[in-house]
Amino acid sequence: MTRQRILVVEDDQAIRLFIESALKSAGYLVDSCTTVATACAYMQAQRPALLLLDLGLPDADGRTLITHLRSRSDMPILVLSARSQEGDIVSCLDLGADDYLVKPVGVAELLARVRVALRHALVMAQRDQVVSVGELVIDLHKGLVLLAGVPVHLTPKEYALLSILAQAQGQVITQRKLLAQVWGSEFVDYGHYVRVQMGNLRAKLERVAAEPRYILTEPGVGYRLAES
Ligand code: CA
Repeated sequence: MTRQRILVVEDDQAIRLFIESALKSAGYLVDSCTTVATACAYMQAQRPALLLLDLGLPDADGRTLITHLRSRSDMPILVLSARSQEGDIVSCLDLGADDYLVKPVGVAELLARVRVALRHALVMAQRDQVVSVGELVIDLHKGLVLLAGVPVHLTPKEYALLSILAQAQGQVITQRKLLAQVWGSEFVDYGHYVRVQMGNLRAKLERVAAEPRYILTEPGVGYRLAES
């Protein structure tokens, strides 16, 4: 099994070295940084398996990073903070952190919580690989789309759009987000690109394209895949 990479965001050098050595000795690859800004920059280029996050950071509160990441990723986030007030813990969990550890923490507990968060993420990822609604099945792992058991041939753009909707099943994805992810950020104003491709997708997937059951339009916002 490939070694999983963990990003540690912690400005206290002694604690950072302690965490790094604990994680490395358990076989993880570890990268670290000391500010929210460097963590954001890192995340643009890398996708670590888990984020271990301090809250009191020099440039911003670690919670801003939770909010930032949760708008784009399901990556497990484990907060490690000296703040032990219930309000701090609850606010981090509400923002989307997976777990919260109060410093000081022992190596065994830290590693156990990391294992739990990674295991949970793996279960979620596997569960999310096959999305179905009605007679439509989208296997994100195999890149396969079936309608009433029959494979549907989609172009790469059509599949890219459908898979984004499938990964967020039930949730509206804005037209601009679809444009940015499928065509690139310089195309976010080219709404007709999405409309044309959605028309093609509906022609292939819907019985009556004008009365879609699967790919639903949220007027003025974007699209979503219906929930089963
Ligand atoms: Ca700190």
